[in-house]
Amino acid sequence: STFSQFGLEADVLQAITELGYEEPTPIQEHAIPVALSGKDMIGQAQTGTGKTAAFGIPLVSKIQKSEDRIVTLIMTPTRELAIQVAEEIEKLGRTKGLRSLPIYGGQDIGRQIRGLRRKPQIIIGTPGRLLDHINRKTIRLDDVQTVVLDEADEMLDMGFMDDIQSILSLVPEQRQTLLFSATMPPNIQKLAQQFLKSPEHISM
Ligand code: AMP
Repeated sequence: STFSQFGLEADVLQAITELGYEEPTPIQEHAIPVALSGKDMIGQAQTGTGKTAAFGIPLVSKIQKSEDRIVTLIMTPTRELAIQVAEEIEKLGRTKGLRSLPIYGGQDIGRQIRGLRRKPQIIIGTPGRLLDHINRKTIRLDDVQTVVLDEADEMLDMGFMDDIQSILSLVPEQRQTLLFSATMPPNIQKLAQQFLKSPEHISM
């Protein structure tokens, strides 16, 4: 199978080529069409399976370059993962001229506020620092159309359930939610029941 089977626009296909990806990984093969269709999804996949591009490719495909609001929110458990995901999203969106910004604890907040002035369409953040910006009103989630919970089981293990619930309650209900997790313990199922609508399950 090839990336051309998904009907992606030329800019995104070029970005994929520049990343050196020749064919979709199994999770990408299954997740990309579902995510492009607008459905909610639960992806059970380990790191190293290509899960970042599995949600990143559909995300960048949906965003217009002219968009000047935050329309996509990706939440990750750690700053390391936020940085890693942001790098891949940046590369996937570059040919389209999209803007993304990682937001994590431990980094100077003034620098993040300056980054937000560039009007990124995509934010990749850890829950605590995201809430900090929401409370300071430097981040508004009113226009978010897609939410990704990456490594959701790790986020719950780190005690982020309350923060995730607070953040998701501020995102419009009319949205797409994609949840990725290596494991599916009861607390993840509960989170999915609370925040996802008739999700498709994809497990690799
Ligand atoms: P991830 O599971 O998202 O952490 O990705 C694991 C690694 O696989 C990363 O280094 C990606 O750059 C790489 N990768 C993702 N998709 C593909 C693909 N279709 N072909 C080759 N490498 C890929």
